[in-house]
Amino acid sequence: MGRGIGVHVSERIVAGIVDENRLVGKVSSFPADPAIADALVGLPAEVIAQQVAAAIRQLEGCKGIEYLGIGFPGIIRKNIIEDSPNLQQLKGSFMGVLLQDALGQDFKEVPIVCFNDADIVAAGLAASRNHLDRIVRVWTLGNGIGYGRYPHQEGVWEAGHTVVTLDPKEHFCGCGGTGHLEGIMGQRAMRLRFMDLEPEEVFEQAREGETRCVEFVKLWHRALAAGTATSIHLDGPGKFYIGGINARFVNLQLLSEYLNEMVKLTPLQGYSLEVVTGGEEIALIGAAVNASRWPHHAKV
Ligand SMILES: [Zn+2]
Repeated sequence: MGRGIGVHVSERIVAGIVDENRLVGKVSSFPADPAIADALVGLPAEVIAQQVAAAIRQLEGCKGIEYLGIGFPGIIRKNIIEDSPNLQQLKGSFMGVLLQDALGQDFKEVPIVCFNDADIVAAGLAASRNHLDRIVRVWTLGNGIGYGRYPHQEGVWEAGHTVVTLDPKEHFCGCGGTGHLEGIMGQRAMRLRFMDLEPEEVFEQAREGETRCVEFVKLWHRALAAGTATSIHLDGPGKFYIGGINARFVNLQLLSEYLNEMVKLTPLQGYSLEVVTGGEEIALIGAAVNASRWPHHAKV
């Protein structure tokens, strides 16, 4: 499928050349120091596009690539960022056009495709584990709750906002909606719920038997099971990966028990759950893989 470039834009910008589902050469990033986590906050969309272009130009052998895939947080359709709660200034931006302008003549013939960042993680996991022939889904547990699916399908897929409870008091979701998965599982939501404890302390105290924390950890797992069960009931069984910074809190046995209570139809039983680590490399590979499989490499 030739060489391509994968880019991931989240707290920072990282770009790499991908060939045969593998990264080749060094990656480039903005800012270069990974400890700086807020460099993109408030940067206008045009400037972010220019920084992406600069990161791409730093890659040795970047000219002559055949496709370019880029993952952004948020709802992305037809290369337009429709919403992006963590990089709000990108909302409504025609990112594909901005990138084409920023990259200029040298990349005029290269198709550029923008994706949701959880979708590129799903594609990267599928590619790196030889699962390109099946449905792969991934939950990314961080400040928000991301949901990625491979193969890529046009759509919204905001499964982090799946309603998992009818309790009107569950209102901690970053989007403002009631009863959402992210309102229980998200880092920000956990901080709002436990004003006196950090999420690490909540899980630690649960292990020590503190009642409020024990109950919450059950709710946290039950919520993820509910979100997963909904996905299974809509899209069928298959492989679910769980990644992101808070995947460290997942008790797979407890999650499986709850999921088992929620999914009973026989044809839907063929699912499996796995916690994964691994960050940027997987996302870059996935961005390139998704772009390489984009219909006819058509410009969108
Ligand atoms: Zn929500």
